[in-house]
Amino acid sequence: MRTGFIGLGAMGAHMARNLHRAGLLTGVWNRTPEKARALAAELGCDAAESPAELAAHCEAVVLCVSADPDVLGVVQAMAAGLRPGSLVIDCSTVSAETARTAEARLRPIGADFLDCPVSGGVEGARDGTLAIMAGGDAGAFERAQPALAALGRTITYFGASGSGQAAKATNQIMCAGIIEAVAEAMAFARAHGLPLEKLVETLGKGAGSSWYFVHRAPNMIRGSYPAGFRVRLHAKDLGICRAMAARFGVALPVVERMLGEYAELIERGYGDEDVSADFRLKAQLFDEAASDHAV
Ligand code: NAP
Repeated sequence: MRTGFIGLGAMGAHMARNLHRAGLLTGVWNRTPEKARALAAELGCDAAESPAELAAHCEAVVLCVSADPDVLGVVQAMAAGLRPGSLVIDCSTVSAETARTAEARLRPIGADFLDCPVSGGVEGARDGTLAIMAGGDAGAFERAQPALAALGRTITYFGASGSGQAAKATNQIMCAGIIEAVAEAMAFARAHGLPLEKLVETLGKGAGSSWYFVHRAPNMIRGSYPAGFRVRLHAKDLGICRAMAARFGVALPVVERMLGEYAELIERGYGDEDVSADFRLKAQLFDEAASDHAV
């Protein structure tokens, strides 16, 4: 299956390399063209001039761009190059509604759009071990198997268009709670003067552990938060979760609290750091209390 890739960011560049390793990658396109040229030179594939040109040379195109308007913009820009039977596999995290809008836009062309958001972080993208949550036409999902198998290890079909994004939104709510709990716990442990490496090693095998704790608590020990998963991207996801819950007349407390904390981090200029930067706010609670005591 001749496959193209659009969106060579923290996730996408690794994902494109895995498609190349599987012998599927024909070409790439990126909004900032230098990134596409550099990766094309590394992998020996084409750097397309436009999304439509890439689509015209491929049977399938995988996208991994930032947010809802970006996906709709790229889909629009590809349309002229798509044919009946072309497959667009969107691995970005966007709303279920955006997935349904994109699918509806491609239907008159006879091209299929699958929402296939992913989980597993930059490491999962690099190692080809992502969890992939798919929605869209079941036949299109079957045709997408070679590309999906190159990108992930757990690949699940959830149903009609938008179902993959609903599953991903569920994951992002869970992540919000874990991100806050780990930051709070690590700030607490630091205030107690515990040896933090030893703590992560030990609690990493305990009942409160998670992928996030094992892989991101070390950022908090080092006081460095390279992306990773950017604060502004998770804030974007939680905005989607907020809107999806609001349709049921519900405000989710964990989502609301993290949106507040992310707004503060973004205002202070930390929006492009990894979400583990939430530790900055939790550590500050202890630092402020200590200086109040000292007064
Ligand atoms: P990133 O490093 O910020 O990369 C974003 C990519 O999207 C870049 O290639 C960017 O192009 C492109 N882009 C943005 N707006 C665009 C537009 N209007 N038109 C065309 N291209 C556009 O983000 P990322 O971390 O790879 O995340 C990408 C997606 O995966 C997001 O939806 C995110 O929520 C999701 N995700 C991320 C993680 C993670 O751990 N990072 C995990 C799971 C899912 P330029 O190079 O020109 O900026």
